[in-house]
Amino acid sequence: PTKVTKICCIGAGYVGGPTCAVIALKCPHITVTIVDLNQSRIDAWNSPDFQLPIFEPGLEDVVRQCRDRNLFFSTDVDKGIRDAELIFVSVNTPTKKTGVGAGSAADLNNVERATRRIAAMSTTSKIVVEKSTVPCRTAESMRTILEANSKPNCRFDILSNPEFLAEGTAIADLYNPDRVLIGSLQTPEGLDACESLKGVYANWVPSEHILTVGLWSSELTKLAANAMLAQRISSINALSAICEATGANIDEVAHAVGTDSRLGPKFLKASVGFGGSCFQKDILNLVYLSESLHLNEVAKYWRGVVDMNEWQKRRFGQKVVKELFGTITGKRIAVLGFAFKADTGDTRESAAITLIRDFQSERALVNVYDPQVPQEQIWQDLQEASPSSSLDTIQKHVTVSPSAISALYKSMNKPAFVFDGRLVFGNTERERLANIGFKVISIGRGDSI
Ligand code: NAD
Repeated sequence: PTKVTKICCIGAGYVGGPTCAVIALKCPHITVTIVDLNQSRIDAWNSPDFQLPIFEPGLEDVVRQCRDRNLFFSTDVDKGIRDAELIFVSVNTPTKKTGVGAGSAADLNNVERATRRIAAMSTTSKIVVEKSTVPCRTAESMRTILEANSKPNCRFDILSNPEFLAEGTAIADLYNPDRVLIGSLQTPEGLDACESLKGVYANWVPSEHILTVGLWSSELTKLAANAMLAQRISSINALSAICEATGANIDEVAHAVGTDSRLGPKFLKASVGFGGSCFQKDILNLVYLSESLHLNEVAKYWRGVVDMNEWQKRRFGQKVVKELFGTITGKRIAVLGFAFKADTGDTRESAAITLIRDFQSERALVNVYDPQVPQEQIWQDLQEASPSSSLDTIQKHVTVSPSAISALYKSMNKPAFVFDGRLVFGNTERERLANIGFKVISIGRGDSI
């Protein structure tokens, strides 16, 4: 197998950036170049004061150690491709908005463009690694495109190496992954390429954590893992509605359920619903795949996970209206947190967007506070969520606050409410808020105080 010394990563986003920065840190003998067409993103990665384009705990420290040593960021995609022995394709694969499969299929345009660029620019053989989350058998399309456009004496070996990091804990996840999954063709060349990539991860990941499988299993595993994670959230959220109606407490139920060693304690936190760029997109991708294979019952099963999530988001908004005496018109509501979860500035599919849009349609006045999300991002997301409203109209109802304190009890109309859509308040915090005078309503608890 080739001993890799030069890596290029196409796509300097939430996955490409942290993943390849950690590879550079752990493999000082490998030169890693991350390329992207987006000039402002690359400029931010290269900014002298390390104002990186994404917020991720620990990331800045890694970039500070490696940048301009063996880690480089560039918009020169072609040079990046030419110089590399191994290329990660880590471009975004969002849900298609129009055309066949609109609303569920993955848009593979970026993957195809990157693949064609690799074919056009390569003058030596390459290992091409699919890092983006893609539908099953995408590697086959990539191979066909590469082989149809390759120069003589250039061979391409394609691997699937899906990324399992979670935003907010990306660096810790990359340092210490539950597993690294590599899929390859089971041919001598495919297995050789697999060994080469394994050699990169082996610099810090114990070999028993590196799983090697066939290409299609690897591609499907990523969709399966996200679908099953999201399904746990939808399951606990479905139970949270029963708790609210019966007086049971979802935290107690989740804890007790999670002590069963077959189930485990993680990912059992009820909430206002999951967000983020992956769960919904990947489940819909699985739904589309199932439908294409005429597996309608399978498609229906997984779609239920997304439907439950949509219902949970709507239900939380409706609960707020109900508790505030049936109307929130003209009432001021502070929304703390706009990103899709803690420790990230990523707002893609954030439940906060849906909530604020629903509050707006009830003509409430909303104050948003999130220390990690720039104002312009908030306006852009809210505008996309309500295409029929002008930005002016949105800004009449929504204010972005510079601090959480601006929404203090004293200045609020009474009774004043706190709605906990993330179960961030345990019994002690709930009591403290209640002592200040707040009425505290938490998802999954029938016992508001
Ligand atoms: P992102 O939007 O943050 O980054 C993708 C980058 O690719 C963008 O900066 C874009 O400009 C660039 N790009 C697109 N087409 C290009 C091209 N042809 N040439 C050069 N650059 C190009 O996306 P992301 O969140 O990093 O996700 C990337 C992939 O990884 C997706 O398939 C996603 O499903 C998957 N994934 C994401 C996560 C996550 O937590 N975000 C986790 C695991 C897997």
